[in-house]
Amino acid sequence: MARIVMKFGGTSVADLDRIHNVARHVKREVDAGHQVAVVVSAMAGKTNELVNWVQSMPMVAGAEASFYDAREYDAIVASGEQVTSGLLAIALQSMGVDARSWQGWQIPVKTDNAHGAARILEIDGTEMIKRFEIGQVAVVAGFQGVGPDNRLATLGRGGSDTSAVAIAAAVQADRCDIYTDVDGVYTTDPRVEPKARRMKKIAFEEMLEMASLGAKVLQVRSVELAMVHKVRTFVRSSFDDPDAPEMSDPNNPPGTLICDEDEIVEQEVVTGIAYAKDEAQISLRRLSDRPGVSAAIFGPLADAHINVDMIVQNISEDGSRTDMTFTVPSGDAEKAQSVLERNKDVIGYDVVQSESGLAKISVIGIGMRSHAGVAATAFKALAEKSINIKAITTSEIKISILIDGAYAELAVRTLHSVYGLDKT
Ligand code: ASP
Ligand code: MG
Repeated sequence: MARIVMKFGGTSVADLDRIHNVARHVKREVDAGHQVAVVVSAMAGKTNELVNWVQSMPMVAGAEASFYDAREYDAIVASGEQVTSGLLAIALQSMGVDARSWQGWQIPVKTDNAHGAARILEIDGTEMIKRFEIGQVAVVAGFQGVGPDNRLATLGRGGSDTSAVAIAAAVQADRCDIYTDVDGVYTTDPRVEPKARRMKKIAFEEMLEMASLGAKVLQVRSVELAMVHKVRTFVRSSFDDPDAPEMSDPNNPPGTLICDEDEIVEQEVVTGIAYAKDEAQISLRRLSDRPGVSAAIFGPLADAHINVDMIVQNISEDGSRTDMTFTVPSGDAEKAQSVLERNKDVIGYDVVQSESGLAKISVIGIGMRSHAGVAATAFKALAEKSINIKAITTSEIKISILIDGAYAELAVRTLHSVYGLDKT
């Protein structure tokens, strides 16, 4: 017997038929003797509709554009999950499974006060565990909790992944199964490289890199939480037949397990290639080389909520002037440039140059911590395709390369193949 948290996203509960299908997945696990809690999202499109309703309301006289009361936003937007949790509980009951819905405040899932983007502070798992012991399935509304002001709080878009992982940690589940519309995590985007393979396992750190780089399977925050609490998280598809024999195969069910690296026996050097398009590069030329200059650049950018990614500073030739290059999402490039121009005197530089339409390709793998020559392999392969590298940054488990956006797909396929990731 295991204790499992099963999470179903919006496309998995998109209509009543899909909700019945989800109930069959849940019943399968219950029939196998497992203790089960389920976390659900709102039906696909529902949260967007609710957000649009809020945004089309008249504003308080004199309020800033896009201002609305965040507590009321939460009261409205959290309702989508309330509906699916009730519907799924009824669907389960109709199949003879004892089930009960739970809203965030009933558990309770306690959050901080940041309405609209709240963080979970604490979850009391006691009542859920009691219910497990009498064989009842808890069907929990994801994406929501209760703030210190005793009001509903939502966790930010995509937050039900985080709800599921946090609940799994709170009830010490053996596994958190994330059911979605893809059947796992792939070595790269299969739309770019059809030879991409589904991974059996990926380490938390690697998944964090993949997710931050736009492999949109899981909310990034949920992966961080899973890593901190060591919640074994299994990504699988709700579109697979719930009663297919392989679905209950304990050794090799279809999907990808995100787990501690110790659990991965055959660790490859490189596990995946991720990419981010629409990057812009900004360079400050002949920047004065003195203490505080980086703070003078990146402080104001952070204050303007500009997400800075790769940062490359050169070593100065004569100790007085240097160059600094960094990347931002293309959409923020103009804003970043004007922030820098406004602060020109404080920072002290000659010119700022920028270029949009770039792509960042990243090679990810824990195995590169203990292998030499991984980066050289990438550089050689890209050179053979005449792809020019504009900037390079590395971490222990990642090499990121900035190139012209037009070559993004070619670069992804080239690297996928050179590291032996292609499906044979
Ligand atoms: N329904 C919420 C959203 O669309 C939460 C989620 O689906 O994870 O953002
Ligand atoms: Mg989601």
